[in-house]
Amino acid sequence: MTSVTFRQHAAHPWFAVDGDQLLIGGRSITDIAAQAGQTPFYVYDRGVMTRKMHELRAALPCEVHVHYAMKANPMPAVVSHMLGLVDGLDVASAGEMRVALDAGAASDLVSFAGPGKTDSELARAAAAGITVNIESEREIRVLAAIGTGTGRRPRVAVRVNPDFELKTSGMKMGGGPKQFGIDAERVPDVLAAIGAAPLEFQGFHIFSGSQNLRAEAIVEAQQKSVALALRLAQHAPSPVRTLNIGGGFGIPYFPDERPLEIAPIATNLRELVTRVARALPGAQLVLELGRYLVGESGAYVCRVIDRKVSRGQVFLVCDGGLHHHLAASGNFGQVLRKNYPVLIGNRVQGGAREIASVVGPLCTPLDLLADRMDLSRAEEGDLVVVLQSGAYGLSASPRAFLNHPPAVELLV
Ligand SMILES: *Cc1c(COP(=O)(O)O)cnc(C)c1O
Repeated sequence: MTSVTFRQHAAHPWFAVDGDQLLIGGRSITDIAAQAGQTPFYVYDRGVMTRKMHELRAALPCEVHVHYAMKANPMPAVVSHMLGLVDGLDVASAGEMRVALDAGAASDLVSFAGPGKTDSELARAAAAGITVNIESEREIRVLAAIGTGTGRRPRVAVRVNPDFELKTSGMKMGGGPKQFGIDAERVPDVLAAIGAAPLEFQGFHIFSGSQNLRAEAIVEAQQKSVALALRLAQHAPSPVRTLNIGGGFGIPYFPDERPLEIAPIATNLRELVTRVARALPGAQLVLELGRYLVGESGAYVCRVIDRKVSRGQVFLVCDGGLHHHLAASGNFGQVLRKNYPVLIGNRVQGGAREIASVVGPLCTPLDLLADRMDLSRAEEGDLVVVLQSGAYGLSASPRAFLNHPPAVELLV
């Protein structure tokens, strides 16, 4: 058994190979396809999630809590598994809240962020006793009315739109004008309003962006987030209990990308833990991570229906595509389309290789999973595997587009 290396991608640290078969969770991709009973499917390896989390814990100071941001992969079985590994769950809708609570999460370990929370969502969150990360003055008014009406004090944290940006982030979610959080300069007034309302203040939430592979940029954002929180804490109506400084830890998708270095982040966090303990005794420092914890654990698998040659170019036409995996097609926020790591899962060592494009069954040129990639020569019936697909896969795709059959999800 060898570890799989891709000609177009750095070595994959998580999956092994046995002859021609890619192994996920120690099982061949052909067996997993038989167990799924169909293609296309997603398969997630719980062992990879566990290893990823253990490696992170071993590096980070033990005082730092890690939460799982469920929107990265909301499959209930994945959420249940993650719940056993992390210190809390972050949800982004009342639907996700239901999955988190069904998985058995204690309400004081669940927080709810996201713009445009409806009155009903806020009422449900308050009734469940989870913490709402306030994103607007309206949310304070609605929750205060719920507090007055029910005689219970809803728990709130203030999501701050910081006065800085996360540098070189895949997606910026803080700094400048944003729909997320409350502008830092307005937070003192908001804290006064919370103090005057029947609300239980928990702390701050500062999330500045996602998919960052540069440790220096994350270190800088974390330092600035803590400095900002310490400044704002002077206006807090009660002691700060939680200080969620976001995450943004990325994973490598493309040949030119290297894995994020955790060591410098851990070193910096050690200093921040000390600073926070001194300035805000009793406050819990929290990181919230989605993609970093689950992204590398998953693969999307579809089958070659048709092998076509058009004017000398090989097309592997598959039964899956962008309707299940928008991100791999390059249409989920990417500026330049690049190929995800793709391989023929039942011909990993393979014999002949060739340059081929992997396309889906949709009537649009956007339905492209691999653009002229170096792959083992594939035949009809072979299994195309898209790696690095454990986060922002099925739930982040337009599943109804063209009304093809749905993909199933397996956790092995
Ligand atoms: C999406 C999101 C996350 C997770 O981001 P990842 O890049 O998957 O780690 C964390 N926190 C908030 C507030 C989010 O919106």
